[in-house]
Parts: sequence; C-alpha cells; structure tokens
Amino acid sequence: MLKEKIALHLAGPTPIPPQVAAAMTMPMINHRSDTFSVLCKEVASKLEALFRTQEQVYVLASSGSSGWETAMVNFVPAAVKVLNVIIGDFGERWSKANAELGYEVENLRYASGTAAKAADIATILEKNQGSIKAVCFQHNETSTGVSNPVKEIAAEAAKYGALSLVDGVSSVGALPLHMDEWGIDVAFTGSQKTLMCPPGLMIIAASKRAWAQADEAHTPKFYFNLQEYRKNYDKGQTPQTPAISLYYGLQAALQMLENEGWDKVQERHHLMGEMSRAGIKATGLKLLCQEEEFASDTLTAVIVPDEVKAATFLKTAKDSFGVIYAAGQGKELKERIFRIGHMGYMTPNDVLVALAAVENSLAAVGYDIQPGKAVAAAQEVWLRDIRQH
Ligand SMILES: *Cc1c(COP(=O)(O)O)cnc(C)c1O
Repeated sequence: MLKEKIALHLAGPTPIPPQVAAAMTMPMINHRSDTFSVLCKEVASKLEALFRTQEQVYVLASSGSSGWETAMVNFVPAAVKVLNVIIGDFGERWSKANAELGYEVENLRYASGTAAKAADIATILEKNQGSIKAVCFQHNETSTGVSNPVKEIAAEAAKYGALSLVDGVSSVGALPLHMDEWGIDVAFTGSQKTLMCPPGLMIIAASKRAWAQADEAHTPKFYFNLQEYRKNYDKGQTPQTPAISLYYGLQAALQMLENEGWDKVQERHHLMGEMSRAGIKATGLKLLCQEEEFASDTLTAVIVPDEVKAATFLKTAKDSFGVIYAAGQGKELKERIFRIGHMGYMTPNDVLVALAAVENSLAAVGYDIQPGKAVAAAQEVWLRDIRQH
C-alpha cells in the first residue's frame, strides 16, 4: 500500500483541495493593510451568500465548538432559562457548555438516530410561558447522521419569543439553510467540514432580532465579543490578529463553491447522501438514521453488525484498503456504529471508493458479504441522477 494515499472519510476534518493548500502558502501580510481589508471583505461577501443572509458574517480564529459559547454570551442574557434540543453527542456538549456558562438548562432528548420534532419543542415553550429565551440545536447532528427540521423549529422558537440558535458546523453550505428566510437568529459553522479548509475558524452570523437583544445580554465576554467584530466589519478588519493563512484558504474554497454554484453544492451533497444510503442498504447493513426524510447528506452513520468488532473493521479499512472512516462518537455509539463522511471536497466518485472499502473491509474481517452490491447500488443512483439532469 502507498500509505500516503488515503481517502479521508471522517466527519471532519475533511480533505482540502490543492487550491486551498496553495492559497495558504501566501506570504504574510500586514493585517492592518488594504490588502487584508480587500481579502476580508471578499470573504465576508461570499459568506453572506453561503449563509443566505443580508446580515454580517464574522470569522473568528477558534474551532467550531466556540460557536456555542459565542452564540450564548452575545445574545442570551446571563443565567436565563434555555432549551437544549439533544439528538446526539454534539447536542449533549452544547447543553454542558450552557450549564458551565451559568444558564438554567432544560434538555429535550431523543434516541440516537431520531430527529427532533418541532411540536415537542412548542409544547415545552408553551409550558414555560416565555421564560425560555433560546432554543439551541444542531442542524446536522454529526454523531448520528441525522438532520433536524431547522425551519420548523426556528418558527416555533420565534412564536414563543425565544431565539433560535443553530449549530451548523457540519451543514452550512452543504445542506439547505436559509438563515433570513427561515428566521434563524444565530447560525455558525467551522472551517474543516463542509468548507474544505483546515480546522481553526469559526464563522457566525446573527439576525436583526438577535442583535436587538445583544445590548441587554450583559454576559461576561471578551475574546468572543461580536460587538468588536461588528464595529470593524465595514473596514474589513478584525479586532485581533486574524488567521491570515486560513483566510486565504477560505477565500480559495469559497471561490470554488461559488464557481460550482451555491445550489449545485447542495445538490452534489444530496446525491452523495443518496448514493451512500442506497449502497449501505444494498449490503444489508442498517443505517442508524431510521427516517429517510431526516437522513444527513453530509455523513452516513452505519450500524456495525454484531459479528464484527468496530475497531477491527476501522483498522482493516485503513491499513488494507486506504480508507479512514469516523468511529462512533459518545459512549453509547462508540462500538455500535461507524460513520462515512461525504462532505466538502468530495464527489460521487469518492463515495464509490468509500463504499467499496466498506464491503472489502467487512469481507476481509470474515463477515459474510458479497462485495460489489453497495457500489452497484450507488452507481444506479448516480446514473439515475445524470439521466434526470
Ligand atoms: C465538528 C462539530 C462541532 C465541533 O467543532 P470543533 O471544530 O471540533 O470544535 C460542533 N458541532 C457539530 C455539529 C460538529 O459537527
């Protein structure tokens, strides 16, 4: 095996295009210069298109998780009651963060593999009669491969006077998320999943409604204070030293997505999602997500058959077939599933490789499987899509 040639199908970080890698080798520049301002403004305007918003979109030098804290401390008053909707491990983490930040947290939990229901959220908001100030949830729960009905949840939150705060770290750009049209109050993502960049940036936007409440938030904050970003936005500046190389990378990545077409990017992800699911089903393996309507188009979580040890399967896939999948995340799912990432710098061809290696690896560890079915089913889906367009 040529060990350096690996197909990285994690749920992030995801592969980066050569154009992005090359852009990041640009020489350092003065971040208080016109050169940086031009770069900063161009990135911002593409991000506005990506988020489907007329509002400002800020780029911070921190990983995706910082979006939880940034959304809370800027827009939600200290110590108030908030609702965390939890359909997997990232939901658990945000809830924990909110408790640590001193909020009074109510949790609404669903079984792994299930999406949240807007009606359940409405019931809780109704019962609390306006005391819940924010509804926090994932657009796409990366630990289970399930997407939530964001539009419906945001509508319920608005109805009861709560802000809708959306963790879109594994969705923004790849799955439909219309920030303004759907009335989403805060949405954020990270650089290393759908955006084809290395880890290190958190990107966040907020609605007019959220901003109108920001002054009353009075929550202690410093590094994540978005007011500072807001003041500098029109100048194309950031309050602290920006991650200049990552900015160059992000500019190159956004340019590629814009060239493809923002809608086409989502269509590509939908096709890859359908191919992955059809392929897995054709092998007889089970998806963790039971509701096709809410299946994630950026990653697929697959239940490991009883006869197979997850760790052995993952090691075989990597060492013998050159494919890296993500293991299960969180105590309950660690040994129970593996996840195939298909987001960012990925095409349907990559999905065929990922599926072939699933079959090969299962066969290699002695599981009773006839290789070829998954790939054939995925090819069918791709061909059908080509004929329709
Ligand atoms: C990856 C991920 C995060 C965490 O992002 P980091 O960059 O690892 O901090 C948060 N939420 C979701 C939905 C994710 O997929």
